[in-house]
Amino acid sequence: MRKKIVAGNWKMNKTLSEANTLLAEIDSYVKTNDPKCEVVVGIPYLYLANAKEKYENLNIYAEDVSEHQSGAYTGEISAEMLKSVHVDGAIIGHSERRQYHKETDEQIGAKVKIALENGLTPIFCNGELLEERKSGKHFEVVKKQTEVALFQLSPEEIKKVVIAYEPVWAIGTGETATPEQAQEIHAYIRSLIAEKYGKEIADEISILYGGSVKPANAKEIFSKPDVDGGLIGGASLNIKDFGALIQTY
Ligand code: 13P
Repeated sequence: MRKKIVAGNWKMNKTLSEANTLLAEIDSYVKTNDPKCEVVVGIPYLYLANAKEKYENLNIYAEDVSEHQSGAYTGEISAEMLKSVHVDGAIIGHSERRQYHKETDEQIGAKVKIALENGLTPIFCNGELLEERKSGKHFEVVKKQTEVALFQLSPEEIKKVVIAYEPVWAIGTGETATPEQAQEIHAYIRSLIAEKYGKEIADEISILYGGSVKPANAKEIFSKPDVDGGLIGGASLNIKDFGALIQTY
């Protein structure tokens, strides 16, 4: 059975004291409310080690990881380093990394692979730009992103990947895909995996939706059969909204 997941992506937000406050609130929320979904918190590199030391039971993810093993890559953080401070996983291939850091599908694939080799759960992100949606190319774009990055993996490896479909036009814009649009493309992504790895494996993979998810729209989106939760930016930055999103399940 695949998991329902509510994952936060803090992006480049929160000072140390703000991060500590929100982590404490999330930890206490999870302990008190016994959520029916898995709760994941993606936070800046800087706070990972302390967060994991303090809250070993919270699923703490990095927002990126290097595609290299180790060596002369100034400013990069390796999968092995993340594992050594007990981080649980990493968000990989987010559209902001693709857009501002020119990450390619090949690099993203290498990041997914090295994350898995080090026992980290990758949340692999895909999704089209507004022009691509408008010109009806969204299926084609998502297909290429998924095939290049993921189809190098063995069946055992792909089972451990979480996918997050995030249409770029819906990120931070207040505009969301309609629940029908999300369902349509999630079902398509699952069908691509089924074609390559078989239906049984495709049915085990959690596919999250991301892009302006808030308590007011989450219920409808999360209720679609191929939507297994959300990857949440803005609404993961305060406990009121993040708690309400967890409570959707
Ligand atoms: P918003 O929820 O702020 O639109 O961000 C979505 C996102 O990019 C999560 O990774």
